[in-house]
Order: sequence, then C-alpha cells, then structure tokens
Amino acid sequence: MKTETKWQAVISNDAHYDGVFVYAIKTTGIYCKPSCKSRTPNHVNVEYYKTNEQAETAGYRACKRCLARQVNSQEIIKKACAFIVAQDGIPKLSAVAAHVGLSPNHFQKIFSDGLGISPRSFSDNHRQQVFKKLLQQGDDISGALYEAGFSSSSRVYEFAHRYIGMTPKAYQQGGKNHQIWYSLVSCALGMMLIAATEKGICSVQLGDDENALRIKLAQEFHGADLIESDKQLTKWTQVLVDYLAGQAAWPMLPYDLKATAFQRKVWDHLRTIPAGQTYNYSDVANALGQPKAARAVARACATNPVALVIPCHRIIPKSGGVGGYRWAAERKQKLLELEQSEERVLK
Ligand SMILES: [Zn+2]
Repeated sequence: MKTETKWQAVISNDAHYDGVFVYAIKTTGIYCKPSCKSRTPNHVNVEYYKTNEQAETAGYRACKRCLARQVNSQEIIKKACAFIVAQDGIPKLSAVAAHVGLSPNHFQKIFSDGLGISPRSFSDNHRQQVFKKLLQQGDDISGALYEAGFSSSSRVYEFAHRYIGMTPKAYQQGGKNHQIWYSLVSCALGMMLIAATEKGICSVQLGDDENALRIKLAQEFHGADLIESDKQLTKWTQVLVDYLAGQAAWPMLPYDLKATAFQRKVWDHLRTIPAGQTYNYSDVANALGQPKAARAVARACATNPVALVIPCHRIIPKSGGVGGYRWAAERKQKLLELEQSEERVLK
C-alpha cells in the first residue's frame, strides 16, 4: 500500500484501514489505529507498521485512546456468531462488523483467522444445518427455506448444490429408492449397527441402546428402504466383531459415503495407520502435505460416519489423553487398549 494512501487514511480517521496497519508517532512514542481521533501528527514524524506487535517491537506503546481496549478476538467471534445465528437472513458483513464495533476488513480478518472460515461460510453453514434439520423433520421445502433464512429459492438452489450436492427435493427424499441393509450385533463395545449399500458400508454406529441406533439410522437415511438383514452383512459384521474380540486383524472394509474431497483424503489416510499406532491431527495434516489443515483434519475425524471402518480412533490429541470420540471416549480408550494389546491376533 502506498504511503500516501495510508496518510490519507490517517488524516481522515478512516476506520476501513483499522486492522490493515497502525501508525506510530516518533515524537510521542505512541502508535494508533488509522481511525484514532487524536490530534493529527506531523507526517514527517509518522512511521507505519502492519501489526501492533511490529509497532511494539519497534519500541512504541499502544495509544490509550484508540487501542486501550485491546481487541479480544475470542469475544468478538462469539458475539458475531451469536448475532449471525439470530438473524432471519444472511446478514451483511458490514452489519456484523458494526455489531462488534469493527471495520468490515478488520472484522473479517479476526473472524477468519480465529475460526478458519469466513463469516459468510459460517453463516451458510449455519443455515445449511437449519435447513437440513427442517427437511428431515418433514417440513415442506418452501417453509424450510423461509425458516432457514433464505430469501429466494434461486439462492437456496445455489446453496444446496454447493453444500448438499443435490437438489433440496432429492435431499428431502433422503436417497429414495436406495436400498440399505443393516444389522445390529452385540460386540465388545456394546451394540453395533452396521449399514451398507450394495457398494459398501455407509454407517457404523456404536451405542448402548438398540432402538436409539435404529432411530439414528432412520433419520440419516429417511427416504431409503431400510432392510434389516443378517444375510447380506454377515461377512462384514463378523470380521468386525472378531476384530473387536481380539481374534482377527483390523479389516479394511469397503465404504460408500458422501464426502468432500478433503474428507475422503483424510479418511483414506487414516486407513493407512497400522492398528496399535496413534497419531495426532498435525501429523495427519503434515502427511497430507497441508500442515496448516490440522483443524480441518480434526473436523473430518469428528464427522466420520463409519466407526472402525475408518479408524479415526487412532488419532489422539498432542496434549495427551485419548481425546473425544463420536461414540464415547471410553470406547476409544478400550479400542486403543485392544489394538495395543500383545495378545491381539496379528496378521
Ligand atoms: Zn490513538
């Protein structure tokens, strides 16, 4: 950015440049945001820095008037999220920024840096959740649209295409005409529900209550023909049960899942981690050649729809402990003990 542009921002107290740079005044040893209403200094005494830290490293102190209330990004993000969720539609960036008292640029940067997604993506994601839920409850599409805060149907079709990968109608039909076979068995970790299409396993859930597992399956695949079957799934079910009993090696079973390219990449990588070994999110991100994607890796693990088949339990936090597990942390603990046990049959 040209010095002249920065200087113009300073003399006009332009808040759009807050967060873009700060200016420091040699004669006072203080640095300010461009929007600071304090007396305009002589330009020859001004130095520019990109960040507060850089100005402080150069020996300047924060101005009490404009920087005294240090920006607490966590608070700002929380406040912005609450505001976005409370709106009827998707709010304008400028409206959210104004709500938290920042310039749009500054706000966008704080939000994206802190959360890993833009305010717009957050907003879309939230609406996606609401919309999906309403459709699953059986609301009609236009009602669900309205409730989720979409003002026009063209907007929702664009959105549906981008995020759900099918039209709202197809989603509401929940994969109609698809046949899904499932089987419920008791295993070393409690009850296990395994469901599969003709192409592969589409759901493996662990729990204590048979009915709760059935209900979950019905919600997820609410338009499909769900066929309880022992025959179709016997082989896959049996190898998983044997593996959990420590009597067979971990089986690489085929899966049939809707996933983003990134999720698939993470999930396939998890299947290369040998039983008995554990890694952390950063290890996986590094292995994928995307060292900055540790958080996205964590999300991909947390959204794994097929317990065991994709061994997300082999990823544990750097800080120690076994970390969270979609099917209860105690189960993860048990699984890791099983895989690390010497008595386990290795093949
Ligand atoms: Zn100031």
